[in-house]
Amino acid sequence: MNEFDLINTYFRVDTRSTELGVGDDAAIIRPTPGMETYVAVDTLINGVHFPKRSPAASVGYRALAVNLSDLAAMGATPRWATIALSLPELDHRWVADFIEGFQRLADEYGIDLIGGDTTKGPLSVTVQAMGEAPRDTRLVRSAGQPGDDIYLTGSVGDAAAGLRLLKSQGGAENDHQQYLVDRFLWPTPRLGACGNLRAFANAVIDVSDGLLADISHIANASNLKAVVEKNRLPRSEALTQEFSDDDAFEFALCGGDDYELVFSAPTAARAHLKSADCTRIGILEPGSGIELLADGLPIAMPAQLGYEHGVDSPS
Ligand code: ADP
Ligand code: MG
Repeated sequence: MNEFDLINTYFRVDTRSTELGVGDDAAIIRPTPGMETYVAVDTLINGVHFPKRSPAASVGYRALAVNLSDLAAMGATPRWATIALSLPELDHRWVADFIEGFQRLADEYGIDLIGGDTTKGPLSVTVQAMGEAPRDTRLVRSAGQPGDDIYLTGSVGDAAAGLRLLKSQGGAENDHQQYLVDRFLWPTPRLGACGNLRAFANAVIDVSDGLLADISHIANASNLKAVVEKNRLPRSEALTQEFSDDDAFEFALCGGDDYELVFSAPTAARAHLKSADCTRIGILEPGSGIELLADGLPIAMPAQLGYEHGVDSPS
């Protein structure tokens, strides 16, 4: 089977809202009148952004999920995606599993795979996702206001803990560990988190590099200081059961790959957000940088705020 058979077999898929999908020199999409188009792209490299010999389905799923997380952080609805795939060899089984993982998530959100590129080279995947949102209501990192509360969806630290388990023992040995590993292999993009973020959030970002690193981006972009209360951080039962307090906090504060959302919102939104799946973890105030508190008292920041990619040594 050559590259063209591969494309026709695996990448030529049904589309819903596309004029022309896979098969020609370029795709033609049909943006919805009155909406703006949002574009995000991310590359996952074997041994850097996922462990070598990761399940192919997970690689396909994550390559889309990380981009959907970016669109979620902008409050956009995903519609289309392209895949640029570099493969060391035309490994059928791998590509079949890869596209199954990708399409599982694409189908969940009604996203059309509309094109891509397939080349021979070290294993890496670049997915570009495009989405839409109404004009005049953008959600950006720089829109934090002094006095805003800082909220976090879900819990943090699980994916970094799962990655640690994958690296140290190759997988899970009990249900809690499986939960953590799954949080790394199959992250859930927080599309539609807390209802319509546009209705009440000011600044938004997704947690891809590490909670403190990503909150710093909001603080810097908004020209404000972020103050985060460590003991308010939601951590899963699996995380706290399987790891020491120190490790669990390090994963929660600095671990990447959870793909939760962090957003700031005025105190007026507290009543509304009480019943949402998010936790108030800090505030934005005049100043710059980020400060960490434990029960209200300032504590030292971790030496490194975020996660540095490098899960395997390159070889
Ligand atoms: P070209 O030479 O014009 O770049 P290709 O042979 O690379 O064409 O691709 C043929 C068609 O298959 C194009 O429509 C392209 O978008 C699609 N395609 C190639 N690789 C992928 C992929 N990995 N995922 C989705 N579509 C792909
Ligand atoms: Mg091409």
